[in-house]
Amino acid sequence: MTAHAATDEAHALALDAADPLSALRDEFLIPPHGKGEQAYFCGNSLGLQPRAARAALERELDSWAMRAVEGHFEGARPWLRVQDELVPTLAALVGAEPAEVVVMNALTVNLHLMMASFYRPTPERHAILIEQGAFPSDRHAVLGQLALHGHDPREALIEVAPDADGLFSTTAFATALAEQGNRIALVLLPGVQYLSGQLLDLRALSELAHRQGCCVGFDLAHAVGNVPLALHDSHCDFAVWCSYKYLNGGPGAPAGCFVHARHARTPRPRLAGWWGHQATTRFDMDPGFVPEAGAAGWQVSNPPILALAPLHASLEPFRRIGMTRLRERSLRLTGHLETLIRTRLDRVLEIRTPADPAQRGCQLSLRVRGDRGTGRALFEHLVADGVIGDWREPHTIRLAPVPLYNRHMDNLRAVLAIESWAARR
Ligand SMILES: *Cc1c(COP(=O)(O)O)cnc(C)c1O
Repeated sequence: MTAHAATDEAHALALDAADPLSALRDEFLIPPHGKGEQAYFCGNSLGLQPRAARAALERELDSWAMRAVEGHFEGARPWLRVQDELVPTLAALVGAEPAEVVVMNALTVNLHLMMASFYRPTPERHAILIEQGAFPSDRHAVLGQLALHGHDPREALIEVAPDADGLFSTTAFATALAEQGNRIALVLLPGVQYLSGQLLDLRALSELAHRQGCCVGFDLAHAVGNVPLALHDSHCDFAVWCSYKYLNGGPGAPAGCFVHARHARTPRPRLAGWWGHQATTRFDMDPGFVPEAGAAGWQVSNPPILALAPLHASLEPFRRIGMTRLRERSLRLTGHLETLIRTRLDRVLEIRTPADPAQRGCQLSLRVRGDRGTGRALFEHLVADGVIGDWREPHTIRLAPVPLYNRHMDNLRAVLAIESWAARR
């Protein structure tokens, strides 16, 4: 080990020892690697399992076994009240009023439900604006909606290009909206862009879109649980997110959805179902549909209690600590990884994520300089070494140090593994 590395190791250990939130890691199951543990940087794809998840799931299995149908009304957590239990924590996390948030379905399904209500095209105004290189599922959903309404994507899909650095400037969206706003029905953008890790200015973008008379929705898959959000104040019309990335709800965990309070009693049509009916009269079984006020009125089916169980456990640290403190730790951790990369690996790697911490979450997107197919080899070397990031074709390695369970020592381990690969190249 070089003197450099020894100094950095002492430094990383000291940072971990001094960090009051380091102990949170013990609340999670870190996957093994050989006789040790992985350095897991993939919480942006699937968050780790909270130790408390298993008991939460067993509690619902027990309730089903012991109470069966009465489980809807009895026990510590009656199934009929599952929303009431989860929503306050989630609402605080995304900066919303409880009535603006609902937990249901999966992200892309919720996106379709939201577009059914908020993409109401007219002959003059029917285009949808997204960012170029949007996550495929979002793009498929948008194309699907255009097709359902009989619109040709060559004319009705507007994809705003990034600047030369691969990042999106508010100016680029402002220009597109100024030029084409009067024919755009919906603006759909990410909170944090999945590939670059760039955090967009939701409030500014909402205002730009609304000024042109467009609806605006956000996909917060990579933002929720990663950066502080103020959805109500952003004034966006709706937002959707999933719960298995930074929220650690488990694979395929039920997703979240936000509908701004001003639409609480909207006359807009929706894809309705009995669970969106006013809760107090839902079981009267009247044929008429009276939606529950707020986001809960977009529910379709009764909730998957077993799938929701781990979410009770996984939201608990967010409730207890709050996004403000988690973000402080996140800024320290990602700043540390960035510094190590810039000082030790500058000739090997380029960081594609904004250098300004205010414009990113925890993820850093990396690219091997002059990459000619070598990025994938580096990624595989890291995995073999127990450093788990992910690979996005054609040349991006994403590493996300998550403030709940990653350590400064994980950062150093990633950097040492990259150095050993670069030395053998
Ligand atoms: C992870 C992710 C999804 C996943 O969609 P599901 O419906 O949960 O499978 C969609 N969009 C974005 C931007 C994502 O990052």
